[in-house]
Amino acid sequence: MTRTDLVVIGGGPAGAAIAALAATGGAKTLLIEKDRFPRDKVCGEFLSAEGCAVLARLGVLPALIDKGAMPMDACLLADAKGRSVTAPLPDLPGAGRTAFGISRAVLDAVLLNHAASCGVTVCEQVVAIRPILENGRVMGVVTRPANGAGADESVGAALVIAADGRRSMLQRALHPAIGDPLITSPRSWFGFKAHFPDRARGLSRRIELYVFDGGYAGLGAIENARVDLALIARVDALNACGNSPQRLFEERMLNNPLLRARLGNDPPCSAWKTIGPLRFNVRKPASHGAMFLGDAAGTIDPFSGEGMSNAVHGAELALPFVLDALASGGLNEAAARAWTSAWRDAFAPVTRRARLIGRIFQHPRPAALAMGLLRLPHGARWLPSLVAATRTGAA
Ligand SMILES: Cc1cc2nc3c(=O)[nH]c(=O)nc-3n(C[C@H](O)[C@H](O)[C@H](O)COP(=O)(O)OP(=O)(O)OC[C@H]3O[C@@H](n4cnc5c(N)ncnc54)[C@H](O)[C@@H]3O)c2cc1C
Repeated sequence: MTRTDLVVIGGGPAGAAIAALAATGGAKTLLIEKDRFPRDKVCGEFLSAEGCAVLARLGVLPALIDKGAMPMDACLLADAKGRSVTAPLPDLPGAGRTAFGISRAVLDAVLLNHAASCGVTVCEQVVAIRPILENGRVMGVVTRPANGAGADESVGAALVIAADGRRSMLQRALHPAIGDPLITSPRSWFGFKAHFPDRARGLSRRIELYVFDGGYAGLGAIENARVDLALIARVDALNACGNSPQRLFEERMLNNPLLRARLGNDPPCSAWKTIGPLRFNVRKPASHGAMFLGDAAGTIDPFSGEGMSNAVHGAELALPFVLDALASGGLNEAAARAWTSAWRDAFAPVTRRARLIGRIFQHPRPAALAMGLLRLPHGARWLPSLVAATRTGAA
């Protein structure tokens, strides 16, 4: 068995950020990632002002701007009939209101390279398949090459952090009651994304949210003159469109005159990418001596546009707990409780509020009512409050 101080499972924003921070703090850190970067991912690719502030502190924001990240400082919300309301994004004291659109292929690769440059040993195309448990504590992980060719290996560590996304292997291994994340129920949601040519060339500087019968979508400019269209849809809407994201897009979304004008008749310039079923909830951020970060700790409704921000902000919040745990040979019960309450205070309320707001806009009647209120004289000033309600507010 090889040994290290810290094993991080997952090289997305949460994993790359905590690995970089811990390595900079002196921890011998190994990061295990099942894919090879750059890789694409279903996401609205909207990095909120709060997330930008964390990435600026990590020192990677200039590289993202250099690679063409598109600034945004306003948001538009449109209902299925094309009625819309526009407002500036809410100001984040100390950080301003500018958000960025950047593809996950670029963002995640920049973050992972940054982790490597901080001294993290990055193992791509390696899957963490199960925890090593001793007396009910996670003492390491067993890994396997992603292509299946090669032997399993055991890695022991003083601390294991699972930043392995919403289907976290470690959460499922430690809490089998979570169940099979691939089982679809009639209330399940699926996510899709495709890139389109950016007819406005980023000039709108807006993140645009389009509500449709059966779901909602986010549209925003990213690098290389493209826009990202990411949507989530209820399984019944998807079934009604023959489980085809392109049909869902044509039959449920393109009848929105605003979106039609925005995208024109341009076909997508990428294939549709699909994920699901999706669940949005809060889980345990610490268990059996291990820590969880990002979507593995709790998955926020994408209506908020805060998932990546929460992932990197959570890494900053976790750093003192990680360094203390490493100094004392592991995460003891008191430290696990302290980390759990720090994580819950920061992220549980916004995750719940985002789910409520997302639900309102996922159903035609409440969405129409909310839109009616937002379109009243002076109603648009509530839109920034709605956006701010899903932020932790840490600049
Ligand atoms: C439709 C949709 C739109 C969204 N839009 C936005 C948006 O516009 N803005 C925003 O901020 N958020 C958005 N989100 C949320 C955002 O994508 C997530 O919150 C964010 O990716 C969480 O980061 P993470 O690092 O926790 O997990 P992930 O980004 O999921 O990273 C987890 C990593 O772990 C790896 N991994 C998983 N299992 C293993 C294993 N067993 N061994 C090794 N590696 C493993 C994966 O390959 C992956 O690279 C959206 C989500 C959806 C579904």
